[in-house]
Amino acid sequence: MWKVKKSLVHGHGVFATRQIKKNEQIIQYIGEKITKKEGDKRSNNRIQKYLKSNKTGSVYIFELNKKYDLDGSPLYNKARYINHSCEPNCEVEISNEKIWIKSIKKIRKGEELTYDYGYEFDKDDYKDHECKCGSKDCIGFIISSDEWFKYLNHIKKLVSKKTKK
Ligand SMILES: [Zn+2]
Repeated sequence: MWKVKKSLVHGHGVFATRQIKKNEQIIQYIGEKITKKEGDKRSNNRIQKYLKSNKTGSVYIFELNKKYDLDGSPLYNKARYINHSCEPNCEVEISNEKIWIKSIKKIRKGEELTYDYGYEFDKDDYKDHECKCGSKDCIGFIISSDEWFKYLNHIKKLVSKKTKK
């Protein structure tokens, strides 16, 4: 149903090897089940590491429920190669402590699978996560589409500050 190969978006990507219907569970996001406390610790460590090395990277920690997180960084978790898109064709579905990547529209054979990473908008570090998804409405940064209005308000404020001067 899918395979990992080099992507035009970023590093590697996951691609459909056959046509996929809407609402199909495609690939399970697997990894190490850890407590929320451990998850927060690992997230912070990785963020600090990326900041120090001036490199961008992914944190791969998902919330399973109120108590547990899932660390999807092991290489056997092929779902970690799925890229973010501003116009995704998949979404993350969490049920019974399992994380599935599910199609939200019909996907053609050969198309790259993408989902919305759901990053919150943070005016201080959004620029660290450029988006190159190539969709016609790409906003330019990896920001959850639920938070695009915050980004747009931020930009508007910057523009009005400039015009006032
Ligand atoms: Zn984009």
